Amino acid sequence: MSRTDRRDDSVNSGKVSLYDVIIIGSGPAGYTAGIYTSRARLQTLLVTGTLPGGQLMTTSEVENYPGFPNGIFGPELMMNMRQQAERFGTLAIDDEVIQVDFKQRPFKITTSGEIFESEAVLICTGASPRKLGIKGEQMFAGRGVSYCATCDGPFFKGEDIVVVGGGDTALEEATFLTKFGKSVKIVHRRDSLRASKILQDKAFENPKIEFLWNSVVSDIIGDKKIASIVVSDVYNGKEQKIQAGGLFVAIGHDPNTSIFRGQLELDDKGYIALKNNSFTNIEGVFAAGDVHDYRYRQAITAGGFGCMAALDVEKWLTERKHRANTEPSEVAFTQMRRQALKDS
Ligand code: FAD
Ligand code: NAP
Repeated sequence: MSRTDRRDDSVNSGKVSLYDVIIIGSGPAGYTAGIYTSRARLQTLLVTGTLPGGQLMTTSEVENYPGFPNGIFGPELMMNMRQQAERFGTLAIDDEVIQVDFKQRPFKITTSGEIFESEAVLICTGASPRKLGIKGEQMFAGRGVSYCATCDGPFFKGEDIVVVGGGDTALEEATFLTKFGKSVKIVHRRDSLRASKILQDKAFENPKIEFLWNSVVSDIIGDKKIASIVVSDVYNGKEQKIQAGGLFVAIGHDPNTSIFRGQLELDDKGYIALKNNSFTNIEGVFAAGDVHDYRYRQAITAGGFGCMAALDVEKWLTERKHRANTEPSEVAFTQMRRQALKDS
């Protein structure tokens, strides 16, 4: 049965199972890609995952997404993006992809409820900030606990701020936060930093930054928002209470790529390795957003990458169709070669 026959059949039965493109993930990258692919008249299925709307669903006000001079709440922004993608025909389903098969074509995408097929796949599964895993962390998330200084720094004007971590992100964020905070303390579990020398030098030179070495945050205290945090010495367990209005956790991110392991090339940190723009090492599989980008990690950049990947998908599908119409199929090519051998 041809691709079109199967699609007509499934459309008649009210259920489409073969798509031009399946987008995995519903953050800014996924929804932006959906807007572009469905406006380009590609049959688009978007599988939202267990966090429909992505990371911005876990925050309150977003002040740096262009187009909203007074800011917009993260969940509202993401609902708007979903509606915009659906308006042009993206079918968004609230399910999770549990398995992918990129070895056969069309590609096979298994969710917890169904199996779908597609000519192209666009991975937008994002990354999750690592958590400290301490009491109060979840309760104070968005009320003093933050995982993104670029996003939330301006909300902490005049506050005492604590940053956890000893990598590039922690030092870069701590330096950035000195623009807003009264003081910035960096709590690090060792006595030496992993961050690059240049960032270390900047932090050491900054009079607003102080380091608490060999220390971990063990408790968060407050009522409606954070008032103080408890820091423990990793060697003797001695605790000290520090006044703080903000706690920035900068201990790294984990890309959501476990289901692609063994099927796609990942870099040494587990992020999807891109070959050329949004192309992965498998033809027809593309990626966009925080799942490959550990540098910028912003809604606008993820959306931008989603747009770029959607344009790449569209162009790739068009060129592939053109090739299929103009070049002999593999079977026809083999027959032609056999005939030529016979004739010679
Ligand atoms: P994500 O938003 O991470 O979305 C990933 C999507 O993939 C989710 O929908 C998830 O359900 C889905 N998924 C994962 N695995 C699967 C699977 N197996 N099957 C199906 N789906 C799957 N950026 C800003 O620009 N401004 C801000 O103010 C801002 N505030 C932030 C506040 C917080 C608390 C956090 C955590 C981040 C903030 N960011 C902010 C960063 C921004 O949210 C991210 O950069 C952006 O969301 C990344 O978009 P993405 O589409 O790549 O992935
Ligand atoms: P990272 O390099 O993995 O550093 C994470 C830091 O958090 C480490 O210091 C680690 O301590 C600490 N940590 C991890 N788990 C912890 C826990 N449970 N409790 C307390 N501390 C914990 O992550 P990153 O800083 O986000 O950087 C990620 C990548 O992006 C890196 O390659 C980095 O170079 C890059 N990056 C580059 C720039 C730049 O070039 N300007 C900026 C930001 C990020 P240990 O040191 O003890 O392991």
